[in-house]
Amino acid sequence: MSNGIQPKRIALFGSTGSVGSQALEVIAANPDRFCAEILTAQSNDDLLIRQALHFQPNIVVIGDERKYQHVKNALAKTDIKVFAGEKALEEVAAMDCYDMMLAAIVGFAGLRPTLKAVENGKAIALANKETLVVAGDLVMQKAIEKRAPIIPVDSEHSAIFQCLVGETRNRIEKIVLTASGGPFLGKKPNYLVNVKRDHALQHPNWSMGAKITIDSATLMNKGLEMIEARWLFDIKPEQVQVLVHPQSIIHSMVQFEDGSIKAQMGLPDMKLPIQYALAFPQRIPNAFPRYDFRKPGQLTFEEPDTKTFRNLVLATDALFRGGNLPCILNAANEIAVYAFLRNRIGFLDMTDLIERTMDHVPIIEKPTLEEYFESDGEARNFAASLIKL
Ligand code: NDP
Ligand code: MG
Repeated sequence: MSNGIQPKRIALFGSTGSVGSQALEVIAANPDRFCAEILTAQSNDDLLIRQALHFQPNIVVIGDERKYQHVKNALAKTDIKVFAGEKALEEVAAMDCYDMMLAAIVGFAGLRPTLKAVENGKAIALANKETLVVAGDLVMQKAIEKRAPIIPVDSEHSAIFQCLVGETRNRIEKIVLTASGGPFLGKKPNYLVNVKRDHALQHPNWSMGAKITIDSATLMNKGLEMIEARWLFDIKPEQVQVLVHPQSIIHSMVQFEDGSIKAQMGLPDMKLPIQYALAFPQRIPNAFPRYDFRKPGQLTFEEPDTKTFRNLVLATDALFRGGNLPCILNAANEIAVYAFLRNRIGFLDMTDLIERTMDHVPIIEKPTLEEYFESDGEARNFAASLIKL
């Protein structure tokens, strides 16, 4: 694309993660269209350094301040500016030097930098669903106010977004979020009670970061995605439906008021929604493998087993009740998932921990941003106290 247009400058927040590294592959494959302006990591200094030497960004940020000197020394011979710490993530997000943020930090930690970018009217390619789960009302309100486009990267939401292109005047009747069902599809509690971290980390269709892989195994990921969809597409809780589709070919569907259903399909590969968000509104060519309907295979659908995967019930409750409850759910879930990953609690204990935290932390109907942060902290403390006992 040598049309004289400058490449879009991308700020990759969470560049060392699963989404971040796949986004760098997309950028590397399209050097005329994109360049990496900012790279950030939390603690993986070695990978951050390798990425920086390869992509020559303007700025890198390492979250863990103890790693600052190592990164600084390794990049001493370059012009790359190095910053460290949580505050630096926000400061850099507020800078004018980039065109689009890829929000690919995992968890609640992604909220502040993403919000800062929105406040500065930046376009966001949003992978960090927790940002919308925690404070979707405030983030979307700010995005409208600042005319900051939010393009989803999450594959289901990218699918819905793609189905909605050209439908601005048409109302959505229902959104069908497809779920692979994760590695434990069809399993019952008597099996799940003994499941260990390494087994839960084996996802059948997607290779992702540890937290979202566990969320997929417990179906919390789909719960978070229901809340994400509610805010992204400005729909009512009752307009979101979850459908298990183990092959992950249909990435999600929209049903309109005339009963017509649009679906977006393709092989499961995160590079596709990442590339779509970075290049929107253009579609750009690639050589990714294609889905072939002529090959033997079946697309199947079933209802989620909410008796076994109760996280989906808890998330639905949070979706309908709103206020700070999704924020509490998210915080308790983060604590639960990290405790499970450290073999501190069992697979089914995660749900109990979240449920007890949701029952404990006081509900606020219309929280301010500060109140969301307080609820997050309170929920984390309470959830953590349950583990120590
Ligand atoms: P990873 O765990 O692979 O990567 C997370 C990234 O965030 C890393 O760069 C990590 O740095 C950084 N990070 C971690 N903790 C912090 C922190 N406290 N402060 C600042 N940065 C931090 O996650 P994924 O790439 O899998 O997921 C990222 C987001 O995208 C999540 O919200 C997830 O739900 C969403 N998503 C992911 C999909 C996927 O396929 N992976 C699909 C759809 C959505 P370091 O490497 O140094 O730890
Ligand atoms: Mg998803």
